[in-house]
Amino acid sequence: MLSARPVRGPFRNLRSWANAVLIAILFAIPWIRIGGEPLVLLDVPARRFHIAGLVIFPQELYFLWLLVIGAALALFFFTALFGRLWCGWACPQTVFTDVFAGLARRIEGWKGSSRPRRVAAWRVGLKHGVWIGVSAIAAFHLVGYFVSPYQLLADTRAGQAHPAALGFWIVCSGLAYFDFAFLRQKFCKYLCPYARFQGVLFDQDTLVIGYDEARGEPRGKRGRAEGDCVDCGLCVAVCPSEIDIRDGLQLGCIACTQCIDACNGVMQQIGRPEQLIAYRTLSGVTGWAGLRPRARVVAYGVLLLAVAGSFGALLGQRQAMGLHVAHNRDSLYSTMPDGRISNAFTLQLENRTREERRFVLRLVEADDFDLITGMNPVTVPPASALEARVFVVAREKPDTSSPQRVRFVLEPEDRKSRGLVRETRFLSPGQTHGDG
Ligand code: SF4
Ligand code: SF4
Repeated sequence: MLSARPVRGPFRNLRSWANAVLIAILFAIPWIRIGGEPLVLLDVPARRFHIAGLVIFPQELYFLWLLVIGAALALFFFTALFGRLWCGWACPQTVFTDVFAGLARRIEGWKGSSRPRRVAAWRVGLKHGVWIGVSAIAAFHLVGYFVSPYQLLADTRAGQAHPAALGFWIVCSGLAYFDFAFLRQKFCKYLCPYARFQGVLFDQDTLVIGYDEARGEPRGKRGRAEGDCVDCGLCVAVCPSEIDIRDGLQLGCIACTQCIDACNGVMQQIGRPEQLIAYRTLSGVTGWAGLRPRARVVAYGVLLLAVAGSFGALLGQRQAMGLHVAHNRDSLYSTMPDGRISNAFTLQLENRTREERRFVLRLVEADDFDLITGMNPVTVPPASALEARVFVVAREKPDTSSPQRVRFVLEPEDRKSRGLVRETRFLSPGQTHGDG
C-alpha cells in the first residue's frame, strides 16, 4: 500500500531535485569516458578496475579496500553528525522507491492525497509495465558498472550479448522491480544492515527527525487539548515507512522529512509555529544548533583523514608498470640434454599507463643464467597486462646444497623511468619448490 501523496513543502521540493540529480549521476557514470578510459568500470573478467583514471590490477586491491574503508568511515562520520542523512537523501533504495511511488500516483490518477477507490485495470497494467521498464533501465546501468554499456548495448542489438551479462541484467531487473514496487521501505525496516547498526553510531547530539513532545502533547482536536498536535494523522499518512514519529525515534524512520512538510502545513493552517516535527538532536535541540564536535565524530574524522592520506601516499608511490613472477606449476624445472637445468616461469607484465609501452626483460645474474623469451622487448597495450612464459637456464650445473636466486628486471625500453626487480628461487633437482 502506497503512503499518501507527500505534502508540498521545502523538503519535498529539495528531495525531488536531489533524486533527479542522484539518478542522473548514477546513470551517467558508466557512460563517461576520459581519454578513452571509463570513469568507473569494475571489469571482473579482465580482473581490472577502472576508477577515475586509475587502473587497478588484482595485485593492487589495497586501493579498492582503502576506498571501501574510506566510504564506511565517511558513512560513520556523517551518521554520527547527521543521523540517517544517507537513507533519506541519497540511498538508491529511497530514491528509486520515491520514483516508483510518484509514477504510480500519476498513472493511477490520484486526485487528492490518497489513492482513488477504484483504479481501472488498464491503469494498473500500465503502472506495472512502466515499473518493469524503469527497473530494466536501472538494472542496465547497474550492469554498466561491470560491463561497458556501449558494448552491452551493441551486443544486445546484434543479438550477441554475453549470456552472463544478459543474465545479470535480467536478474537485476527482476530484483529491482520486486524491491521498488513491492518491498519498498520494508527493505529498510527488515533487511538493510545499515539500519540495524546505525543506532550504535548515534549519540545525544546526532541530528534526527523528532517530534516536540513537550509542545505537542497532550494532543487532540483544536480547542479540546492544550498541545499543538491536533491529531490529524497526516504525518502518519504520508510516512512511507508507516510509522508514527510521535512515538519517538524508530528503526523504520529513514529521515525522509515527509512528516516535517506535512506537519508544517498543518501548523500554518492553524496559525501555530512550524517545527513541531523537525530536524532536532536526540537531546532535543532543534536544527543545526545542536551539532558540535564530539570524541566519536573527531575519531571518525581522524581515521577518515588517515585513510585518505594513505590512499594519496600509495598513489604517489605507484609505479607505472608491474611485474609478477611465478614458477610454472606443471613444470618446475627440467634437465636439458646437455645436463643444464632450466626453470619455466610465467611473468605478468602490467602497463598501468594510458599509452602503449615497450618493456625490456633481463636478469641481474646475467653471468650465471640465460633468459629465453619468445619476445623481448615486449609491447603491452595501455592499461593492460600480458602474460609471458619465459625460461631461465643455468649456465653451470647448479649448486644444489644452497638455494639459488634469480632476479628479473623489467625496464621501459626508453629507460625514462626506473626498472622493477623481482626475485625468486631457481629450482634444481632435490630442492623443494616455491616462489619468492
Ligand atoms: S501532522 Fe502534526 S498535527 Fe497532525 S498528527 Fe502529525 S504531529 Fe500532530
Ligand atoms: S517518520 Fe517522518 S522522516 Fe521518518 S520515515 Fe516517516 S515520514 Fe519519513
